[in-house]
Amino acid sequence: MMENWLSEEELKAKFTVLEDNYKIVSERVAEAAIKSGRKPEDITLLAATKTVSVPVINRAIELGVTCIGENKVQELCQKYDQLHLSNCDCQFIGHLQTNKVKQLIGKVSMIQSVDSIRLAQEISTVSVQRGFVTSVLIEVNIGKEKSKGGIYFEQIESFLAEISPLSGIVVKGLMTIPPADENIFTTMRYFENMYQKLVDIKCKKLDNISIDYLSMGMSADYVQAIEAGANMVRVGSALFGQRIY
Ligand SMILES: *Cc1c(COP(=O)(O)O)cnc(C)c1O
Repeated sequence: MMENWLSEEELKAKFTVLEDNYKIVSERVAEAAIKSGRKPEDITLLAATKTVSVPVINRAIELGVTCIGENKVQELCQKYDQLHLSNCDCQFIGHLQTNKVKQLIGKVSMIQSVDSIRLAQEISTVSVQRGFVTSVLIEVNIGKEKSKGGIYFEQIESFLAEISPLSGIVVKGLMTIPPADENIFTTMRYFENMYQKLVDIKCKKLDNISIDYLSMGMSADYVQAIEAGANMVRVGSALFGQRIY
């Protein structure tokens, strides 16, 4: 699951790759922000850190990464105590089972993958018990893929209405992972539809909802996602190099 223990030399090599990549990705994010009429600092670059070892993640934080996202509860918990998180948000971006919510609450500043009422209820209940309000994003399965989590695009409003009264969560926006095998034009259309929906629900000013984030775009398409209106991109391999499982 995680990278094996790395030798000094391997670690150095990883740091070098990361430093170069971080510079490139940051520049591309900034350019795309400006091109779409925003400021570079309006865009959150979340480093997707699955399989990445703790020293490499901490190096990314040193370089300036202010937000990381993990996919698996177990992996996050294994790494958590060693991560240097005083100036960095830690978020959860993977599929979440209801029975694992207890392990996450209090550790992560946001859960990006809320896609069922039951899951939202559990996050809320545990958060209330522990005196937290947990920020969440609604995950949208924009390509209606069987293999993926997320509610359907058409269900966003009704889902929002159902979960927004829960007092232990605050809905901060939408997240999506479009189908990987589409051409970039189809992907762009998905991104644009998501942005339009975000604007629509923002206009409605619903209670207990503070729509701040549109999380979409990964290594292959983060520039296009920003140009379509994303203000959070989740980038893994373009920062850390190819993942080894
Ligand atoms: C792994 C992952 C990413 C990053 O993927 P890359 O293609 O490596 O940038 C983004 N979002 C989620 C939910 C992921 O699991």
